[in-house]
Amino acid sequence: MFVSVIIAAGGSGRRLGSPVPKQMLDIGGGTMLEHSVRAFGSHPRISEIVVVVPAGQGSETAGVLRANRATGLRPALDVVDGGPRRQDSVANAFARVSGTADVVLVHDAARPFVTAALIDRTIDAAAAHGAAIAAVQSRDTVKRVERGVIAATIARESIYLAQTPQGFRREVLAAAVALGRSGVDATDEAALAEGAGYQVHVVDGDAGNVKITTEEDLVAARARAAGTARVGTGYDLHRLVEGRPLIIGGVVIASDRGPLGHSDGDVACHAATDAILGAAGLGDIGLRFPDTDPRWKDADSVALLREAARMVAAAGYRVGNLDVTVVLERPKIKDAIAGMRERLAGALGVDQAVVSVKGKTNEGVDAVGRGEAIAAHAVALLTAPHTAPRDADPASRASRLAPQQ
Ligand code: MG
Repeated sequence: MFVSVIIAAGGSGRRLGSPVPKQMLDIGGGTMLEHSVRAFGSHPRISEIVVVVPAGQGSETAGVLRANRATGLRPALDVVDGGPRRQDSVANAFARVSGTADVVLVHDAARPFVTAALIDRTIDAAAAHGAAIAAVQSRDTVKRVERGVIAATIARESIYLAQTPQGFRREVLAAAVALGRSGVDATDEAALAEGAGYQVHVVDGDAGNVKITTEEDLVAARARAAGTARVGTGYDLHRLVEGRPLIIGGVVIASDRGPLGHSDGDVACHAATDAILGAAGLGDIGLRFPDTDPRWKDADSVALLREAARMVAAAGYRVGNLDVTVVLERPKIKDAIAGMRERLAGALGVDQAVVSVKGKTNEGVDAVGRGEAIAAHAVALLTAPHTAPRDADPASRASRLAPQQ
């Protein structure tokens, strides 16, 4: 089955009081849009993603999302300009959806915590019934109010709050889009599908699949996206001998001696590599890049760090920050620090602002102080988004969805 998803990020979202549309706000580990794109991009059943953004922001957004691609986004990705209304935006995106798509999902970028299980439920129901949306039953009693007075109490059992994703067989969404093009206004694609005469089925939504609308939502989303933090330390020391290049943090520094080692002996890279591997619980540099393996003989340690960063990312972690202290009696490394930060940040795929390198001497004390060795310490903070075990446990989902008495 070929499944496409349209991610609607075309709104201006000024309610949060930001000059930036809300879906472009960073919630930690990327914007809401990036989180949403990753949720679908990492789902094995999604073949194609079409993102629709405010007119004129397509190229900037495409650049950001392509950077995500570099870190493992698999499906085909397209970015298109939105229109004045949501339905116009979705119609623009639908025009770019592959003709071979069997099911097309529509998702709001402002719901960045959509789970793989909810995506699965929506795909299955859309394929089976033609149209399906995620929705949660109202937990609260619902009142119809007129001029400040309750006009009616509505049976809660029949009240469902619509979420996204909303899923459609391709021809059903085509009919819904055509109805929207003909002048009918609707707040979502399900309403257009209903208007076009289709029955829209409901699948269990997810209380965690919130739409970020208010400042409070944004604060909560940032706390949630920060997820769990893990810290790791690294330490490395190499003897200094004559006739070897001195390479620290990927930068060659003029010196009559350099570190002795199987690799290039770059202590900053080795300590950083151990710090990120340690934080992720992935062992250490000796385990991952054994010096008995000829592949790592005279290896560029920046490449080892890049490979370790890839392993850490594959395990679901992102580098929050890295702090490295290099201990070396001479020469002074001050002028090389900017270059080291650039090389280390490049290997980790992070902004230089979150990478720090500091230089120390050992005040003439012990082997490092006598210039016989170079050492480095590193501390790395990794973050991992909260996974969503709630969806793995149907019992807890059922209790969450049960109306409160
Ligand atoms: Mg080493």
